[in-house]
Amino acid sequence: MASSAPKPGRLFLVSNRLPITMQQKDGEVQVQLSAGGLATGLAGLHRESGGSWIGWPGMTTADGILSAKVQAALKSQNLVGVGLSPEQHQGYYQNLSNQCIWPLFHYFKERMHYSVTDWEQYVAVNQRFADTVLQQVRPQDTVFVQDFHLMLLPRMLREAMPDLRIGFFLHIPFPSSEVFRIFPQREELLKGALGADVLAFHTLGYVRHFRSAVAHVLGIETHTTRILTEGREVQLLAQPLAIDAFQWEPGPAKGEKEIAQYSQYLRQMAAGRKIILGVERMDYTKGIPERMRAFQAFLAADPSRVNRVMMIQVAVPSRAEVRDYQELKNDVDRLAGSINSEFGHPGLQPLHYLYQSVPPAELKALYRTADVALVTPLRDGLNLVAKEYVASRFEDDGVLILGESTGASWELGEALRVNPFDTSDLVRNLELALTMPIAEQVARMRPMRQRVRSTTVEDWARACIQAIHHSHQTSPAPQFFSSSTQQQVCTSWAQENHQRTVFCDYDGTLREFTGTPGEAVPTAEILQLLGDLCALPKVQAWVVSGRPADLLAHWLPIPGLGLVAEHGAFYRPPHAVDFVPLFTSPQLSWREEALAILQEFTARVPGSRIEEKEVGIAWHYRESDPILGAWQAKELFQHLAEMFMEQGVQVMRGSRVLEVRPAGIHKGNALQTILSEVEHSGFVLAAGDDHTDESMFRALPDSGWSLLIGNRPSKAKLRLDSPAEFRSFLRQLATSSSAPLQADRE
Ligand code: UDP
Repeated sequence: MASSAPKPGRLFLVSNRLPITMQQKDGEVQVQLSAGGLATGLAGLHRESGGSWIGWPGMTTADGILSAKVQAALKSQNLVGVGLSPEQHQGYYQNLSNQCIWPLFHYFKERMHYSVTDWEQYVAVNQRFADTVLQQVRPQDTVFVQDFHLMLLPRMLREAMPDLRIGFFLHIPFPSSEVFRIFPQREELLKGALGADVLAFHTLGYVRHFRSAVAHVLGIETHTTRILTEGREVQLLAQPLAIDAFQWEPGPAKGEKEIAQYSQYLRQMAAGRKIILGVERMDYTKGIPERMRAFQAFLAADPSRVNRVMMIQVAVPSRAEVRDYQELKNDVDRLAGSINSEFGHPGLQPLHYLYQSVPPAELKALYRTADVALVTPLRDGLNLVAKEYVASRFEDDGVLILGESTGASWELGEALRVNPFDTSDLVRNLELALTMPIAEQVARMRPMRQRVRSTTVEDWARACIQAIHHSHQTSPAPQFFSSSTQQQVCTSWAQENHQRTVFCDYDGTLREFTGTPGEAVPTAEILQLLGDLCALPKVQAWVVSGRPADLLAHWLPIPGLGLVAEHGAFYRPPHAVDFVPLFTSPQLSWREEALAILQEFTARVPGSRIEEKEVGIAWHYRESDPILGAWQAKELFQHLAEMFMEQGVQVMRGSRVLEVRPAGIHKGNALQTILSEVEHSGFVLAAGDDHTDESMFRALPDSGWSLLIGNRPSKAKLRLDSPAEFRSFLRQLATSSSAPLQADRE
């Protein structure tokens, strides 16, 4: 069913906040685009594709509707505004986003404030964004959604426009699943994000946490970088945000004069002392008090240090209307005061604490002048300041001390890494940094700077967008087997003059899965159905299963039923008595060794079990913990595949089962053999649910009907949701042969 992928359409970016400052003066609206960072990196991309950037422009209106004037001013810059009322902004942004998701995702559970009303506003505003996006886009367009404010948006868009290409980037950490599942609407957040084709994070650690949350909370089996859900494949991507390093390097027209002046001022202020720099928003995730206490301890260890070292802490005001942030500021104010009164002398202030934002030229001067950057957030999705400091060190000197709980520490491995909670670790590293020989500074800084310079924000965005386009091209789920197509199939079945052949997998296709494989005995309905099919003229019905031959014969004692056992290793044609092998003398010398390994894994994974068949050996983990089971299955698969690669042995993955068996035995081969033995074959249908059934779908003639039970990308042409729906269709087939057609399902 996979057709060649259509050309990607326009690119639409969606973020909570539009990258602008807007002023309304004398009835006129002025919109100014923000410079630098994400805004600059992304701006060109959507403009060149003909799309726009959609978001909140930064001002609320009583009714949540933006005036025509505002929209027109935004439109002139390729922007589309989403209006919010003060109540919506409070509930969705201030409360649910900033005081619930933000603290929890940064592991500050005790600061999380959740209320149902805020959640309702979050849902409503996400829907408002979805409605605005849907007014702008066409099915082949790409929508790239930014951040935790809009986690429900991908699913809302997917449901309304299934063919849209959707990407989502989370700019904050994705926490451990143990922490994530504290969130009351955890399923909704995960399902919301899973509406995307690509879910991107700054680090592989966040990808791992997300996978684990999906497995634990939604019970969906995940793969290293993909998740199959609702018939789609969602790609997981680790793509840390980049900076435009050249902006931090000296160059013409970059305000060099101002930078030089401010650098000189800083040096005068330092009066020969070395400068330690901290720059961040005033946020409890940034570890500002912890860092100040470390500086205090550093001075206390040797008060004469005050003559050799000073610290500048820039704390940019942030979320100042929130009580937690006000309290934090009070703490930091007090600490700064006490450090200066304890260690300062007239004319010699050890700590310069600036509660303000600094202009770009001053920030550049600070980065260029500071001997040490102390970047020690308690938790940070990435941390741009660390990258900016590195980019600014164009002579490759200076020392970066970096907290291990920042996303950036994944890329900046040459920094001095610290535990931001451990004062003595911070003090030790400050001592190291301040006495580090220049050769070592260069040896550490140079590779980091080269790395930071090697990509730009635009490269980052292009990599994400490329992944979205690529992932959308993977084979889609089959089309749903509608009642009208079912009628069509029944008509061609009823009108067929030649042999009619039906191949059905057993577990998950004819019969629902049960807790243990032994419980899945055929019901009276299944036995009756197969019996009715086999009793029809010119009909061959086959059950094609991974189960052992003797069990199939025992469970399905139906005259005229054909059986294929052990995934195509043996078959028993209709009315025959014995099973016949479908392979030529397999090599079985590997069995003993494989069995020993499987036993080892069974001991490790509670709930797993071994099934020894005549040829193959299966390892089932359906009843095991989903994370442990899937993880161990992956290890086992790799181990067995490497071990037996040269011995003509194949390791196969099924639905929560691994099977080892001789290579070349599969259901597709069995089908080919059976079909080649039929004299005049007409109607052929094969139905199955898991990956072992894909070889059947591939082995069918072009005119054959392939039917997937479930919802995932597959070679099958059509799909149904459940074994019950499949049985109902088989019942229609059975009655279509002898009675007029009737559709029993809409
Ligand atoms: N920054 C700023 N004004 C200032 C100080 C810093 O705009 O007065 C910028 C800084 O250059 C950096 C960003 O703020 O790009 C902080 O990003 P980071 O990832 O370190 O932390 P966030 O604030 O996003 O949590």
